Amino acid sequence: MKKNYIYLSVFIAFFIFFGCTIPEQQTTTTETTETTQNVYHVTYKKVENAYYELPPELNDIEARNKEINEFAPYLRGKRIFIDPGHGGDDRKNKSYTGKIVEADVNLRVALNLRDFLIQAGATIIMSRVSDQTVDLKYRSIMANNNNVDLFISIHHNAVPNITRSWMNYTSTYYHAKPGNWEYEPNEKDVARFIQRDLAFFMGNSGGLGSFDGTYSDYDIYPGDGFSVLRETNAPAVLVECAFHTNSMEEARLGIEEFNRLQAWGIFRGLGRYYRAGIPTIEFSYQSPRNKGIVDFQFKISDKNGIDTKSIEVYLNKIIIPHTFIPELDQLNFSVYVQPGEYEIRIITANKNGNHALPYYKKLIIN
Ligand SMILES: [Zn+2]
Repeated sequence: MKKNYIYLSVFIAFFIFFGCTIPEQQTTTTETTETTQNVYHVTYKKVENAYYELPPELNDIEARNKEINEFAPYLRGKRIFIDPGHGGDDRKNKSYTGKIVEADVNLRVALNLRDFLIQAGATIIMSRVSDQTVDLKYRSIMANNNNVDLFISIHHNAVPNITRSWMNYTSTYYHAKPGNWEYEPNEKDVARFIQRDLAFFMGNSGGLGSFDGTYSDYDIYPGDGFSVLRETNAPAVLVECAFHTNSMEEARLGIEEFNRLQAWGIFRGLGRYYRAGIPTIEFSYQSPRNKGIVDFQFKISDKNGIDTKSIEVYLNKIIIPHTFIPELDQLNFSVYVQPGEYEIRIITANKNGNHALPYYKKLIIN
């Protein structure tokens, strides 16, 4: 009995000593966890003052007109489709504080871009000009029906959870990858120009997944890509201007003046893209079939000169030999064909690295 009493006393003493301490330790642990979570919250909420610098041309109308006029010769007459992502029933993409709705930011950037491009003489068609619901497929159908030269979809990115809210970069997507038949190198050209100037004016990097900040939509949906890029006939790119889930970016994206700066970056990228030129490919001559052989002659030209190494000629997806005479802008090749239907495809780039749209010609041999 006495022994039991001693055990009991030891137990009580143990309980008094550790009984108090253990909950305290638990409390401490809980507090630490909360503190860790708070670090994210504090980091996230701390940024209230947006930081960005405006280039002189956005403050000064004369300077801006001068810049726009410099790009006008290259943009005049171009039919450009601007697609502000989401909107209407689709307003679920929000920043963590709820301050930013992606659909609204996309629209503000798009409308500012429209104004710059119209001033430069381009014709603009938009998938929406207000907070409207527009079906994803219909965005491409509209662009296809309007026979546009270029399609640009404007979006803002998000990380999947708040612990990664530090993440922020600018990225521009093109469809498919080099080596895929559906890949069109001219789309990557446009993406590179837009990406560089947009990231530059926003002061953002291009992310670590690629060296130039451009990405294939197959990186996100292998083999499918983005609907708007896949379904649009014209060269098409999609811009993820920045991450609205980032606290610093959230503060900036809510400011219309900053959205205009973003649009300015895209505008400059487009202006510089068109200024770098796009080669033209014209059919000149096709011989009658003689002993199974048909000779072809095309004219490939660009005021910057053609990068002769860039030329590729395909017959039914198989690359075939060709010769190119730069002095005459003349591409020659011969195909050996039996009666049937064939498709010729020609790829080329100018000396600035800008590719022509892939050129297709149907060949029917009776
Ligand atoms: Zn989006």
